[in-house]
Amino acid sequence: MRDGLGRQIDYLRISLTDKCNLRCSYCMPKEGVNIIRHERILSLEETVRIASVMRNLGIRKIRLTGGEPLVRKNLAHLLHALDEIGFPDGVYITTNGTLLKEHLDELEAAHIAGINISLDTLRPETFCRLTGEDMLGSVLDAVYEAYDRGIRLRINCVPIRGINDDELIDIANLAKDRRIDVRFIELMPIGCGREYERIPSCEIRKILERTFGTFTACDDEVKAQPAKMYEVPDFGGRIGFISPMSEPFCASCNRIRLTAEGFLKLCLEKPDGIDLRTPLRENADDAKLADLIISAVRRKAASHDFSASGAGDHKKMVQIGG
Ligand code: SAM
Ligand code: SF4
Repeated sequence: MRDGLGRQIDYLRISLTDKCNLRCSYCMPKEGVNIIRHERILSLEETVRIASVMRNLGIRKIRLTGGEPLVRKNLAHLLHALDEIGFPDGVYITTNGTLLKEHLDELEAAHIAGINISLDTLRPETFCRLTGEDMLGSVLDAVYEAYDRGIRLRINCVPIRGINDDELIDIANLAKDRRIDVRFIELMPIGCGREYERIPSCEIRKILERTFGTFTACDDEVKAQPAKMYEVPDFGGRIGFISPMSEPFCASCNRIRLTAEGFLKLCLEKPDGIDLRTPLRENADDAKLADLIISAVRRKAASHDFSASGAGDHKKMVQIGG
């Protein structure tokens, strides 16, 4: 499937829920969160139906996200169904890691291709302050258990001035003795993220290179991968930077997003997209759903515009799925 600018769209991110067991202050407010009513959320069967139509349209890779995808009930059923459909580039999940350990068996059984774990701090007090919960231990336990099982892991960290800028070296060190990639993601001005100060990737790279030596760019990366990955002297894993603000990768964007309510969102920053839940519930057949998806995808915007508006879509990150 190609968009109006000829970009190949082959990656779908599915948000399974807007609920989360953490309250990362740059993502989700502590209070006043309007949780979507249950009947507005796509059932797992509806989600599988859309995924199957998407596969026929050329989607090769799925990432499950949220909210926190692991708070969704009966996840094993969905994982199994996606595995049966068969996505050539795999089904992945992005999680805060707090509930991961008890889900590892079902994730492995469904041939999960990789797990991204969001981890912004290695200090229990900072974790508590940032997320509202004392659960760093559970996240680290899950990281080590998943690693020992040989699951492909990536740690994603959002550096924020005054919050975790003094521990970026410790976080990068997670990639030293293990084959785990650590990626630093620039904070985007979405929802509560607007209240915090982003640290540009180039600044982080300089700090890390002063400690670890010069990084060498990896040339094996797929073009559509937004992360720039680097080999680091004496490191088992790699260090990466995702820089949507300082180095936008819109020209090679290959992704679309399905929100938990069944809205197909074409760009993280823009409100554009199409409601798929209504036609699904009005018994649209696969051909009708495919037509709706194809015509929406043709309208995908050329690029995000965070810098101009500073605001973008007013949905919070927790509703879109990152
Ligand atoms: N709960 C899961 C987790 O934390 O991994 C999945 C959903 S969360 C919205 C996905 C990712 O978005 C997390 O890595 C989080 O750090 C990131 N995120 C949230 N708000 C952000 C923002 N304003 N800018 C950049 N990344 C953000
Ligand atoms: Fe929850 Fe993930 Fe947002 Fe943190 S970043 S509040 S874990 S959805």
